Amino acid sequence: MEIRVQQPKTIINRNVHHFGFDATFNPYRGCSHACKYCYARDTHQFFNLDRGHDFERIIFAKEFTGAQVMDQLSRVPLSQTIAIGTATDPYQPIEGQLRITRKFLQAILLSGHGVTITTKSPLVLRDLDLITALAIRQQIVVHISLITDNTTLAHQLEPGTSSPRRRWQIVDGLVAQQVPVALFCAPIIPGWTDDLETLNAIFATARQKRVTWLMAAPVHFTPPMFEYFSAHLATIDATRTLTFRRHFADNGALLPWYRRQLQQTIDRLRGQYHLSEQGLTPRPHQFTVQTVFDI
Ligand code: SF4
Repeated sequence: MEIRVQQPKTIINRNVHHFGFDATFNPYRGCSHACKYCYARDTHQFFNLDRGHDFERIIFAKEFTGAQVMDQLSRVPLSQTIAIGTATDPYQPIEGQLRITRKFLQAILLSGHGVTITTKSPLVLRDLDLITALAIRQQIVVHISLITDNTTLAHQLEPGTSSPRRRWQIVDGLVAQQVPVALFCAPIIPGWTDDLETLNAIFATARQKRVTWLMAAPVHFTPPMFEYFSAHLATIDATRTLTFRRHFADNGALLPWYRRQLQQTIDRLRGQYHLSEQGLTPRPHQFTVQTVFDI
């Protein structure tokens, strides 16, 4: 593993509305969780690094002072939610040492912005003290990603992440502290994780564990990522990979008939388990004289 520390001028990315966010904070580029379908793999090519081994082993980390991050937060309107971990996982293993995500959350406690965190890692529980404090103010929602309950398949597709069982334990740990949790059942992979048994198990467990809402969506590829991921699948099961490829056009775009069919299944399960598609939006925290003294 190689860590390349950067001191970027921009810590918080703004004007990312085309990706569906007001503002984003990504402490790392590259991700040792090494999910083979990861759309962020392509971005390593901006640094003349490859989307395979380099993405998993060469991690860029943001370095900044408390004053710098507070200065940038002061320019983000309080009404805007900041999404943490939209590019790569903010709790990938190196965060255990560098604590950049933790530092950002400490700043958020002071700034009052609403935030979301998206992760697959139990390391998020290390920061339960901060997350619980934000949850009391309704300032945070945590998104946990899970695409299958099958431990072997999860390891084949996401070799550097925690097991499905461990991820449900993360949900338990957060829900027990009244932290709002959304389950991200994405990306759903045709022919591999889209069977009714797999999806039903995820929806049923999410319901049982009282997640606040559930997002489910199929995989999306650029043409090079489609080829990269297909090649990986072929090392696991060549026949199944051919079936997988039949769901896509030559450029890696998902075929409309499949998208419609999958959406029907998702809608049916959503109704069956009463799991909303619409997420809870974190609220900004307005400081009063009293809360300033509480800090
Ligand atoms: S955890 Fe997320 S960012 Fe990291 S490799 Fe997997 S999909 Fe990509």
